[in-house]
Amino acid sequence: MSRHFADLRAPEAAGLSPDAVAVLPIGSIEQHGPHLPLSTDLVVAETLARDAVDTFGDACDLWLLPALAYTKSNEHAWSPGTMWLSATTLLAVLDDLARCLATTPVRRLVFLNGHGGNSALLQVASRDIRLAHGLSTFVMHPSLPADHG
Ligand SMILES: [Zn+2]
Repeated sequence: MSRHFADLRAPEAAGLSPDAVAVLPIGSIEQHGPHLPLSTDLVVAETLARDAVDTFGDACDLWLLPALAYTKSNEHAWSPGTMWLSATTLLAVLDDLARCLATTPVRRLVFLNGHGGNSALLQVASRDIRLAHGLSTFVMHPSLPADHG
């Protein structure tokens, strides 16, 4: 069975458990030096999220959301190829996605963040989403143990 949220049919999404955990990979499209692709953070976040859901999905009732590629990378705005959203826009996008998730029974949302420039904003978004939509939110980073992120 696929644990990709986007593969569900609407009645299946409506039948998810309140104990289910939605995992949203958060990447970036930005310069990573002359040797790596613009998608580096996206690939890291997406791959780790997919592997985690494939490995622990059944045991922990994880559901993989489609990754968010464009995020807050204005620290790399000087570099051609960097595609970024303003903090205001990204907060609005995250709030919109959480509002939509909250129409399902799912009450847990993990941001698996591959880009350090998003970290502070994701903490703010997490608190706002908890208050506005009643979801439990978590911010995780590929390079940090869970108790540090
Ligand atoms: Zn980055």
